[in-house]
Formats: sequence, C-alpha cells, structure tokens
Amino acid sequence: MKSNYTFTIIKPGAVSNEHIGPILAMINKAGFHITAMKLIRLSVRQAQVFYEVHKDRPFYGELVEFMTSGPVVVAILEKANAVEEYRKLIGATDPSKAEDGTIRKMFAESIQKNAVHGSDSDENAKQEMNFFFARTERFNRDGSCCVMEY
Ligand code: GDP
Repeated sequence: MKSNYTFTIIKPGAVSNEHIGPILAMINKAGFHITAMKLIRLSVRQAQVFYEVHKDRPFYGELVEFMTSGPVVVAILEKANAVEEYRKLIGATDPSKAEDGTIRKMFAESIQKNAVHGSDSDENAKQEMNFFFARTERFNRDGSCCVMEY
C-alpha cells in the first residue's frame, strides 16, 4: 500500500524569482492538498544531512552552498500514491530532459537550480517529513492538529 504523503522543497532560486505562488498553484491544480508548510533557511549542517546520500558526488559542496543561499519552502503534500504522482509533476532532475508542463521544465534554471525537491520513495518521504516538521505542525485534511506520523 503506497503512502498518501510526500515531502517537497521549493528551492532558493524558485523562491527568489517569485515562483512560490505559481508552483503552489500547480501543486494544488494537480490535486495535492498541503498538510504542512513553512518558509525557512537551511543551515549548512541541515543541508549536508539532507543530501548526505550525495556526499561523495562532485556537486555535493556546490549543492549545499546553493541550498543554503536563501530561504526555501518546505511542505508535506497529500494525494493518493503521492511520491510517484509528485515525481511525475516535477519532471526529470535535469530540466532539459523534463517533460513539458512539469514544474522543473517551467521553473528550473539548471540541473542544480532545479526549482523543487520531491521525495523519491515512501521511506525517504517519511524521513524527510520528520526532519523538518514537528507533530504540532502537521494537520489532517479536516484541519485538525496534530499528526504523529503520516
Ligand atoms: P532529484 O531526486 O531529482 O532531486 O535528484 P537527485 O537526488 O539525483 O539529486 C539531488 C539534487 O542534486 C538535484 O535535485 C539537483 O539539485 C542536484 N544535482 C543532481 N545531479 C546533479 C549534477 O549532475 N550536477 C549538479 N550541479 N547538481 C546536481
């Protein structure tokens, strides 16, 4: 049974270029409900831990620098089969390979400055939600607080 929740980041670049509104509109239009959201600036340590899986890749340092260069929007999204559905909506990591109509095709500047993050598995989604959101910051669809774990 696939989870109904995924985690996203609207990255610096998309935030500074005033794309928060249009990206959230695409997210809602695609049928996702936002159950948690905030604007924060990642510390270097937070970005390092978040992207730890890439720590041996040549772009790791640059990626951490980019992700800490300004505020980001972090959010939890709800929809049936959320992880897969959201990966479809955001498109390929490299925007030159992303399909028309995807968020990355429309708003990414480069493979690094690619507008948004979307969890790639239910397990990672859960880990990423727990990394950024306390129980008191997570809401049910009926608006009630507080969700222990999605
Ligand atoms: P994602 O799941 O589609 O975000 O892709 P990955 O998990 O493979 O990579 C994480 C993030 O690292 C991407 O969203 C990009 O911001 C960045 N990234 C991935 N590949 C490259 C690359 O080849 N060069 C650079 N500069 N950044 C990359």
